[in-house]
Amino acid sequence: MERLLKLNRLMPRWKVLESRSRFLMFVLEGTTESFVRVLLRIMTEEVPTIAIHEVVIETNSSFLSDSFLAQRLRFIPLTSDLANLMYYSTECPNCNGRGYCHLCSVEFRLSAKCVAGDVTSKDLVTSNPSVLPFDFFDPTGTAIVKLKPGEELTLKAIARKGIGKDHIKWSPLAATSAKYFCPSDIRINEELMETLTLEQKKQWVASYPTDLFQVDPQTQKVVLCRPGNGYHNMPLNPEARGVIEVFEKKDTFVFTVETTGALKASQLLMNALAILKRKLLSFRVLEDHFLDHDLAGIDKLDSEN
Ligand SMILES: [Zn+2]
Repeated sequence: MERLLKLNRLMPRWKVLESRSRFLMFVLEGTTESFVRVLLRIMTEEVPTIAIHEVVIETNSSFLSDSFLAQRLRFIPLTSDLANLMYYSTECPNCNGRGYCHLCSVEFRLSAKCVAGDVTSKDLVTSNPSVLPFDFFDPTGTAIVKLKPGEELTLKAIARKGIGKDHIKWSPLAATSAKYFCPSDIRINEELMETLTLEQKKQWVASYPTDLFQVDPQTQKVVLCRPGNGYHNMPLNPEARGVIEVFEKKDTFVFTVETTGALKASQLLMNALAILKRKLLSFRVLEDHFLDHDLAGIDKLDSEN
């Protein structure tokens, strides 16, 4: 029972503060920084996505080299809702790990010649309509190369499932987009604040970030605003010591993530939590097995020594 309580303590309460397609801000309460780091690492390195892994250039008379083109293609995020249902190519039972069947790969074709303007991600033709460049329906798409009249580019690209731990192209997080901070809990010392004149209060309010405090026009008291989510990341201004008190909530973390577009940010969090739950469950099973089968042997060894 004690072990279960410890594991439950690791799982925090969480709520979403702001959610857009690729962006998510959420708060985790009642947990530790080590848990937050684990969650961040899972999101970055262990949630699978689909990315172009192999490129066969058939014709290339553009100014870019084959290897440079292939590199560009590998880093175009592909919609990866299907990733959880796909096999890793090396584990695919349908093609014996070769990595070319519909259960473990998606084929893209690109054929462009003498076009006016850029060749973009919108020119990639997929073998699976569920797996597309993330910006396929945007007006412009991601530029791949600009062809001059008479130049030609034809290629085949194979996308496969993978994780960021194996290569950064599979990481669903935009570079350095994941951040977290312990929010501040701010209290105003009303008694001390009321010793200031109205003009001093206005000057004091103006010295802090926009909308954090305001002077109530009715009461002329300084009040704490709660714009947006109500969680602040504010260092204590030494001059304000006494007028306000700032406490860091050490067991609360405000987390923001932005994805590459391979997954919606909310889906990324769900997938990461599912992986974390599986890890905790396997840890419990392992621990139970250890206690049931091995502890007696260790006790015996201890008593012999
Ligand atoms: Zn396969």
